[in-house]
Amino acid sequence: MRFHRAESAFFIFIFVILGAGLVTLHAHDFLQSFAAGLTRPSRIADIAYLNRLLFFTGVLLSTALFFGTFFIYPLIREQVREEGKLRAMARSLSVRSETLEHAALTDGLTGMQNRRYFDDALKEYIAEFHRICKPLGIMILDLDHFKQVNDTYGHDVGDAVLKAVADCLKSMTRYHDIVARLGGEEFAVVTPNMDADTLERFAERIRKAIAAMPVAAGDVRLMVTASVGLALWNGKETAEEFYRRADRQLYEAKRQGRNRVCA
Ligand code: GH3
Ligand code: MG
Ligand code: MG
Repeated sequence: MRFHRAESAFFIFIFVILGAGLVTLHAHDFLQSFAAGLTRPSRIADIAYLNRLLFFTGVLLSTALFFGTFFIYPLIREQVREEGKLRAMARSLSVRSETLEHAALTDGLTGMQNRRYFDDALKEYIAEFHRICKPLGIMILDLDHFKQVNDTYGHDVGDAVLKAVADCLKSMTRYHDIVARLGGEEFAVVTPNMDADTLERFAERIRKAIAAMPVAAGDVRLMVTASVGLALWNGKETAEEFYRRADRQLYEAKRQGRNRVCA
């Protein structure tokens, strides 16, 4: 059984009182035997007076002991119990708020970061990479004819495709890339420290990987493709403008026939 600090301090206090009581008792006994050997009446009266003082000290110590044990200790116990409850409540609230924060920034289906996270992170990356004068790229991917997948095989197979594409993106990107599902069948990757050529080659590798990836869901096996729009931050535009520029490239890739990268 573990005691709270206040309880331990109280027990020490009680032991000190008990010790003082024992010393008082001993002093009382000692004086009794000392008085037995005395003959002068004035001395015997002094000793009797001292004995009375010791008796009252004993009474006061016993009162303190009684009061402490039956009044102060229950109050301390109550206080400790309340404190424990508050502590447990604070712990569970902090776990809950962490879980809620995580849920607010995560896409439930794929476990990727969501649009809200992406918007904030892109602004932060722009500020940071502007400061250190390093390139920052963005890649927006949209699955081609995804509605047909849902219409032909059902929503569950559509979900399996989204998860497979998400896993593919997660496995092909680096630790410091921002990888997010922006909504529906649209994904984004923010790629720090890549020049235009490297970014284009990277996007092409991802596009090929998605196109070559067989998705199995129940009895169904199918292939999907994605169109990709790229942009490299020009050093001036806002996060919104940067994103829109890549989005225009994505629509260009769709217009040119899909399953391709446009920069
Ligand atoms: P495009 O090549 O022009 O992009 O055509 P598309 O069919 O991919 O695009 P469209 O915007 O017409 O359809 C997107 C579909 O994505 C429609 C919607 O039902 C489906 N979708 C959006 N979110 C989800 C989801 O969470 N799960 C599943 N299974 N489907 C989703
Ligand atoms: Mg689409
Ligand atoms: Mg779309």
